[in-house]
Amino acid sequence: MTAYSRNKPISFDNHWMPFTANQDFAQNPRLVQSAKGMHYLTPEGEEILDMTAGLWCCNLGHGRDEIADAVHGQFKELDFAPSFNFGHPLSFELSERLAKMLPGDLNNLFFTNSGSESADTAIKIAYAYHDAKGDTGRKRIISRQRAYHGVNFCGVSLGGLTANRRAFGQWLPVDHLNSTHDLSRNSFTIGQPEYGGADMANELENLIAFHDASTIAAVIVEPIAGAGGVLLPPKGYLKRLREICDQHGILLIFDEVITGFGRTGKAFAAETFGVVPDIMTMAKGITSATVPMGAVACRDFIKEAVFSTSQGIEFFHGYTYSAHPLACAASLAALDIYDRENLWDRASGPVGDKLQEALQSLKDLPRVIDARGMAFIGAIEFEPLEGKPGAIGAALLKECWNQGIMIRGLGDAIAVSPPLIMEEAHIERFVDGFRKAVKVVL
Ligand code: PLP
Repeated sequence: MTAYSRNKPISFDNHWMPFTANQDFAQNPRLVQSAKGMHYLTPEGEEILDMTAGLWCCNLGHGRDEIADAVHGQFKELDFAPSFNFGHPLSFELSERLAKMLPGDLNNLFFTNSGSESADTAIKIAYAYHDAKGDTGRKRIISRQRAYHGVNFCGVSLGGLTANRRAFGQWLPVDHLNSTHDLSRNSFTIGQPEYGGADMANELENLIAFHDASTIAAVIVEPIAGAGGVLLPPKGYLKRLREICDQHGILLIFDEVITGFGRTGKAFAAETFGVVPDIMTMAKGITSATVPMGAVACRDFIKEAVFSTSQGIEFFHGYTYSAHPLACAASLAALDIYDRENLWDRASGPVGDKLQEALQSLKDLPRVIDARGMAFIGAIEFEPLEGKPGAIGAALLKECWNQGIMIRGLGDAIAVSPPLIMEEAHIERFVDGFRKAVKVVL
C-alpha cells in the first residue's frame, strides 16, 4: 500500500529539511516509504540498496521485529518516566550491559538523545571533572580540522568542517589539530595508513606549548573521522595522542557516534585501535537507529572526582528524554541481536575484506584520487571539477539513487557504511550501480 505516490503529490512547502538542498529536493524528491533488511522501498515500490545504514546508524539493517516488539511492549508497560529525580529499571539494566561491553573502566553511562547532545555532555563532564579537581582554568578543548561532532553550538565549535562552522561562530575555546588526511603518502590504503601518525599526533604538543596545559580540558577526536571524509588514523596516531594527554593531565575523548557498535570490526573503535579514551560518546547504532538515543561513557576516576564534590545534585545537566524507556527497550533488544547474530566483529571478516577490495577496484574510474576504509566503512575520493568543488559527491548521490543505491556524498568523496548484515551479493550490486552512476556523472 502506498501512502504517497506520483498520483498523489505531496507538498514540499512546509517541511524545512536538514542538510538538504530543499528547493532542489522538491524538484527531484528521493522519498523512501518502507524498509526491510538491506533495502529501502520507494513509494513507487523501487528497491534502494542501503549502503549507508541510513545515516551510518541502522547497523542491524531494517525492520527488525524483535526491536519493534520490545518497543511496543515497553510502550504499553511504561511510556515515559521522568529522568530527573526518578528512574526506571531498564536504564540501569542498559547501563550495566553497556559498561560490561565497553573497554577499560568506561563504566559510567549518561544518556542523551543524539550524537550532538553526547558531544555537549562529554565536554560538560570534562569541565565538571577538572572543576572537581580544582583545575578551574581548564576550559579549552583541542579538536581537529574536518571533525564532525554534531550541530549544537558545542559541536559546531568543536567541528572542523568549514560549511558547518562559517555562519554560526565559535562558542567554546577550541583549537584544532590538522586532519589526518594525507593523500601524498597514504592514498589507496586499506586499514590504517602507514605514514605520519606520530608526527601528526605530536602537533598536539605544539598546541599545548602554545596554550599551556593548565588551560586545556580535553582532546576530542573521532577515531575515524566520518563526515569529514572517512579519514582513518595513521598507525601510532591515537596511541601517541593518548600518551601526550596522559603527560599533561588532559582528558581524551573519543566520539564513537559512527565508529561504535560494530562498524570497525569490534564493538568500539577504541578496541580496534587498542586505545582507551577517558570519555566516549556514542549514539546511532546503540538502538540501530530505531529510537533516538545517545550516551556518554566515562572512566571511574572521572565520576568519582565529580561525585566527591557533592552529596546533592552532582552534575547540573540532563535531558527530559535521557534514558527514555522506549529507547532503552530498543537498545536492549538491539544488543541482543548484535550478540545473537555475532555482529560485533562481522565487519572485520571476509565480507568486510570484500567491501574494501571492491572499493579499491574502483580506482580505474575517472578522477579517482583515493579509495580508503576498513571493515564496513569506506570512501572514494575524486579530483574536484574545475571551479566546482564538492559537486561530484552531490551528483553521485543523486545518480546512485537513480541506480537504486543509497550512498553518502561528502564533498568530492562518497562514503559507504552499510548495515552489518550486508552480504557479498550486495557489494557486487553496489559496484555495478556505482560504475554506472559514475559513467553518467563524469
Ligand atoms: N558525532 C559524530 C562523529 C557524528 O558522525 C555525528 C552524526 O553523524 C554526530 C556526532 C551527531 O549526531 P546526531 O546527528 O545524532 O546529533
